[in-house]
Amino acid sequence: MSQTATTHEFQAEVRQVLDIVIHSLYTDREIFIRELVSNAADALEKMRLTQLTEKEIHEPQAELKISISSDETAGTITLADSGIGMSREELTQNLGTIAHSGSKAFAAALKNAGKSKDATLIGQFGVGFYSAFMVAEEVKVFTRDWRPGGQSLCWTSTGSGTYSIEEVPEQNRGCRIVIKLKEDARDFAKANTLRRIINQYSNFIAFPLELNAERLNTVEAIWLKPREEISAEQYESFYQFAAKAFDKPSYHLHFQADAPLVINALIFLPSQNQELFGMGQMEPGVALYCKKVLIDPHPPKLLPEWLRFARGVIDSEDLPLNISRESMQDSSLVRKLGEVVTKRLLKFLDKEAQDNPDSYLEFYAKFSRFFKEGIVTDFANRDAIAKLLRFDSSLCEVGKPCSLQDYAKRMPSTQECIYYQTGPSRSAIESGPYLEAFKAKGFEVLFLHEPMDEYVINSLGEFEGKRLLSVNSPEVDLGDLEQGGEALDETTLAQLNEWLKTELGETVEEVRGSKRLLGAPVLAITPEGGLTPQMRQMMRAMKPDEVPQVKVILEINPSHDLVRKLEQTRQTNPQLAALMGAQLLDNALLSAGLLDEPQRMVSRLEKLMANLPT
Ligand code: ADP
Repeated sequence: MSQTATTHEFQAEVRQVLDIVIHSLYTDREIFIRELVSNAADALEKMRLTQLTEKEIHEPQAELKISISSDETAGTITLADSGIGMSREELTQNLGTIAHSGSKAFAAALKNAGKSKDATLIGQFGVGFYSAFMVAEEVKVFTRDWRPGGQSLCWTSTGSGTYSIEEVPEQNRGCRIVIKLKEDARDFAKANTLRRIINQYSNFIAFPLELNAERLNTVEAIWLKPREEISAEQYESFYQFAAKAFDKPSYHLHFQADAPLVINALIFLPSQNQELFGMGQMEPGVALYCKKVLIDPHPPKLLPEWLRFARGVIDSEDLPLNISRESMQDSSLVRKLGEVVTKRLLKFLDKEAQDNPDSYLEFYAKFSRFFKEGIVTDFANRDAIAKLLRFDSSLCEVGKPCSLQDYAKRMPSTQECIYYQTGPSRSAIESGPYLEAFKAKGFEVLFLHEPMDEYVINSLGEFEGKRLLSVNSPEVDLGDLEQGGEALDETTLAQLNEWLKTELGETVEEVRGSKRLLGAPVLAITPEGGLTPQMRQMMRAMKPDEVPQVKVILEINPSHDLVRKLEQTRQTNPQLAALMGAQLLDNALLSAGLLDEPQRMVSRLEKLMANLPT
């Protein structure tokens, strides 16, 4: 080691990633090429932007390109780029630490992947550089950054705990990464192997790429070509390139428009939801171009935020070429572009969902949260997004959720509102007391299973002019139902209600006879302005100390055997009747998802059982 060399320890997070990379990833090792090429392309892209704003640049004439070469005898691969390079601080910062939760999420995703140990994921977690250590005995990064007067440096590591940085003789601007291959990875130094890998993964790189001085890629803006000239494979590999992904896209929308703006757009929707890996929010992934020139790879305000899972390119001739990323965000032109593309995308998805419902459901199952987020946050597109929502319901087949449009079409003319019930599962809802009256009326009920659904439905408020109403709302009015059986007379019912109200205390705001109970004896309704069960659940998760006492309207079925029995017992054995009443209330709260302390039922049930005839 020369005198200027300094040795540094990797940050713990990096050590963790390196440990996984070196000791447990044996398949898909070839992806390290893609990761390093992609880093080189990023560095070139940053160089291009720097040239637009900075006057003083080291080697301003250097061509922006990537050169790869290999030496089979020595077992080395060299990747050189003329990008921005790295200063000493940047080397330590970028190749010695990981600033975000990337390594944790990567480790978790690998664990989830089980035996398959899917190394191809690595780039998505912002730790792609370290994939070189899958094949390398040693990695050297020679670099000279773009600033005038910068140093030429060499970063070296074997991946085991430490790296060193030393000053070296003058280098070309950019980075030159030299990989000394492990014995079992020497195949990668073969020119044919390298050519195959580069063609497979890096064909769409926007800068010239040479292998042993031979030009490999054709820089092609496929979004500007007519659709008929692009094969399914080309679309797929462009998606994988643009999204740095390995899944197949679920959908692609490729269109050209001339009015109101000239737009060439190629938008992909993935088949894997990266946010499910616990990586936090994705960055927006539809890049903005003007006549093939990249303006911003992740423009934050081009598409609405909920569409951040979309990938691809929007290219418009109408944008001024010199638009800066900052002014871009406030540009009304950019907003307009985004609006046009969003509308087209929503329309396209609606059509796809109708033409190929099964594939849409498969896609929706993974991405529904984004659409629900859209309902809450994207007012301008709310109605169009609502058409894309799917819900389980009392009339649709298990596993085949339906759209609000389907629901609206099935509504009998006597039905005014769209009804929904929240509950963890279909069986939980079906065994509860709420559904039967709606069934008897022939009214469909949507089943909302996700905690956020109620909030989403409340934000939506109505669909095609029809109000969305919860089955446990006090506003539900189903008119008179044929309840059958002998009912308690009105006076007796009024007395029973009043007695119950006194016995049941604080939890009950009102006890009243029900018009919507058939087979069940009682049910609980959330009073006007009260917290619904879902709101309580959310509150319990966030502010457990502030959850208020449950308050419900208890409705009783005057024709039900148990209710008549309760009335008789009240006359002969009020103490036992009080136990029965309390138990009936708890049953209703349980069905409503409002029972906070189920344990209290145990001793009461034991007392009730003790009263059974022997
Ligand atoms: P990511 O590229 O997702 O940030 P990596 O682990 O692949 O994660 O790279 C870490 C960082 O190292 C990059 O963000 C970049 O700043 C720097 N880097 C990597 N390769 C190069 C290169 N060829 N030229 C300049 N900087 C580079």
